[in-house]
Amino acid sequence: MRGLAAVPSYVVMQPTTLCNLDCAYCYLPFRAADRRMPVPVAEAVAASVNPWAAAGRFSVVWHGGEPLAAGREHLAALIAPFGPGVEHHVQTNATLIDDAWCAFFVEHGVRVSVSVDGPRERNGDRVTRGGGPAYDRILRGVAALRRHGLPFSALAVVGRPGPGLATELYDYFLDLGCDVLGVNIEETEGVNLRDNSHDARQVTAFWAELVAAWRREPRIHLREVEWSLRYAAAVLDGSADDLLPRRLDPIPTVGHDGSVTVLSPELAGFTDVRYGDFSSGNVLATPLVEILAHADRTPWVGEFLAGVEACRASCPYFGFCGGGHAANRYFEQGRFDGTQTAHCRNSKIHLLEGVLEHARDHQSPAS
Ligand code: SF4
Repeated sequence: MRGLAAVPSYVVMQPTTLCNLDCAYCYLPFRAADRRMPVPVAEAVAASVNPWAAAGRFSVVWHGGEPLAAGREHLAALIAPFGPGVEHHVQTNATLIDDAWCAFFVEHGVRVSVSVDGPRERNGDRVTRGGGPAYDRILRGVAALRRHGLPFSALAVVGRPGPGLATELYDYFLDLGCDVLGVNIEETEGVNLRDNSHDARQVTAFWAELVAAWRREPRIHLREVEWSLRYAAAVLDGSADDLLPRRLDPIPTVGHDGSVTVLSPELAGFTDVRYGDFSSGNVLATPLVEILAHADRTPWVGEFLAGVEACRASCPYFGFCGGGHAANRYFEQGRFDGTQTAHCRNSKIHLLEGVLEHARDHQSPAS
C-alpha cells in the first residue's frame, strides 16, 4: 500500500454546516452556522462521480453538520445531479426524521445511519441547542424508520470504555433494530479537546466483551469485530498481505463551499499556519477527478504518507490498521508524520488485542 488511489470508493458531502444538536464531544467548528452547499457544487462532484459509479459500486455519504437540517427540498436538489448507479447514505442524529423524511429516503434510495450512543443514560452528551437531552427525539426518529420498515445502521460513541458496558450496548442495539453497528471510542479532534487516553486493560476488556456479546447473537453486522475477525482469518491462512488496498482510499470530503479535503473529514473547515486550510482544491475550479490525481502533492498529505511509512516500519499492527487516520495524528500530535496515537491504541491495537483475548478465553480444551 503506497500513496493515494486516484479513484475513491466513496465521497463525503457536507450539505450544510449546521447541526440542530450541540453534542459535547462534537468536533465540528461551525455547527451553529447554516452554510449550505450550493447546487453547482453537487453538479461539479457528480460530473466526476457518475462515470465512477457507471464502472462499479460507488457511494455518496451526506454528512454534516446534520445533513437533514438542509431540508428535503435542498437535499433533493443536491442529490439530483447524481446518476442512478450512485448509492446515497446519510449520517444523521435522527431527531428530524418523520414520515415525510422516510418517504424521501424511499424515493431517493437513501440508506440511513443513526448516531445514538446506547440507552438513555449513555446519551448524556447528546443535547439540543438549548442544552436539553436529545434522546427522546432520536428515538422518535428511529421509531419512524421502523414504522416504515426502513433498514438502518447505528453509530455509537463510547466515552469511557471498560468491562460491563459492551454487553449492555450490544443488547440495546439488538433491541433497537439496526442491522449494522459501528462503535467509536471518543476521539480528541477538531474542537473536542477532551482527553481520550484510557487504561489499556479497560479498553481491551471492553472489546473482548463486545466480541463475546456479538458471538452470542450475531444478528448485527458489528463493524469493528468483523474487520478484526477478517484480519485474524487472513493471518491464519497466510493472506493478510492482500487485505490492505494497494493505495490508500483518498475519501474526499467536499465541504459546503466545494473545497476538497482528503483522508479525514474531520480536517475540513480547519486551518493551520503550517498547513493552510488542508484542502487539495475546490470542485468549482477544478474537476474532482483532477484534484484527486494530484492530492498527494498537498503538503500535509506528503507528511502523512511519511507517517504511514513510519508506522509500516515500526508497528506490528500495521497490517490490520494500515497507518491510522490523518486527523487523529494532527489533533493529538500537531503534525502528520508521527505514529502511535491514543486513537489507534483505543480503536485498533486494543481492539485486536480484545479479539485475541476473547479467542484465548474461549479456546476449546482440546486446542
Ligand atoms: S496501530 Fe497506530 S502505530 Fe500502528 S500502524 Fe496503526 S496508526 Fe500506526
